[in-house]
Amino acid sequence: QAKEDGKNTYHFYTKEMTEQAYNRLLMENNLRDALDNQQFELYYQPQVDITTNRIVGFEALVRWNHEQKGIIPPDHFIPLAEETGLIIPLGKQIIDMASQTISEWHRANLTRARMAINVSAKQLRDNRFFHNLNTALSKNNCQSDWVEIEITESSVMQDPELAIQLLSKLRRKGITISIDDFGTGYSSLAYLKKLPITKVKIDRSFVSNLPQDKDDAEITKAIISMSQSLNLDIIAEGIETQEQQDFVLQEGCQLIQGYYYSRPLTKQAMTEKLESIRLREA
Ligand code: C2E
Ligand code: MG
Ligand code: MG
Ligand code: MG
Repeated sequence: QAKEDGKNTYHFYTKEMTEQAYNRLLMENNLRDALDNQQFELYYQPQVDITTNRIVGFEALVRWNHEQKGIIPPDHFIPLAEETGLIIPLGKQIIDMASQTISEWHRANLTRARMAINVSAKQLRDNRFFHNLNTALSKNNCQSDWVEIEITESSVMQDPELAIQLLSKLRRKGITISIDDFGTGYSSLAYLKKLPITKVKIDRSFVSNLPQDKDDAEITKAIISMSQSLNLDIIAEGIETQEQQDFVLQEGCQLIQGYYYSRPLTKQAMTEKLESIRLREA
């Protein structure tokens, strides 16, 4: 870019790039320290079958507990972690924490549900991924059928053939796969059938304007009916209101995740919620 702009602007861009590179380096070092100091924490958001009102799954969502800045959301550091490769050690910590938590909950008889873990494209393609995953599962006494991997539609589409290979390997281990943020890349519809997946998550961007937005309503309906005809589970994420929930249920989607049922909770808070549900149902 700088070269194309000619000699006059070259120095200007160089200086700016140096500054940018410096900030990145700073952030990267902060991320590294945070990894060493265990500053990453998982929050857990329940997935619910609204026809039975039962929790059928959890999604593990990472946060950075920063000493000065407080709790930093994943959108602020996952992209950099992916660019710098730090997603590999971070992802390893995340899988370790999530499998420990779901293993504890199963052993305490607090749930029979799966824990969904977000995995980025780079992480899945890393050749240590399966080794790290196996290590975490056996270390935590976690059965592979207690775990689900969430991969975004866009990262699958980066290299569909490779994704099919890697995801099949997970499926053979008994781990289920769900496609995250579905609906944002139409090119993949034909591929959906080839992928070894069991579940599709309707992207929050379609849900947020339901039921008023006609286009979003049509897209949501199409995704639901397509998933049904392919025999895939379908879940709507980002359900914030009764109206949104009513809409997706009426269209045939009975699994939901969103603030309306529960925000993502700390491990402690989610454990207490599960304990209180058990007491109520006993
Ligand atoms: P995602 O996997 O699509 O996760 C769903 C996001 O929607 C989460 O944001 C969740 O807190 C938020 N959400 C859930 N229900 C509602 C709702 O009713 N209303 C609204 N407005 N938001 C809702 P979060 O936790 O900030 O995560 C953002 C993204 O960061 C995730 O999107 C995922 O792509 C990424 N991410 C989070 N945790 C991890 C992780 O452990 N590993 C990787 N690789 N990425 C992660
Ligand atoms: Mg997700
Ligand atoms: Mg999503
Ligand atoms: Mg998302």
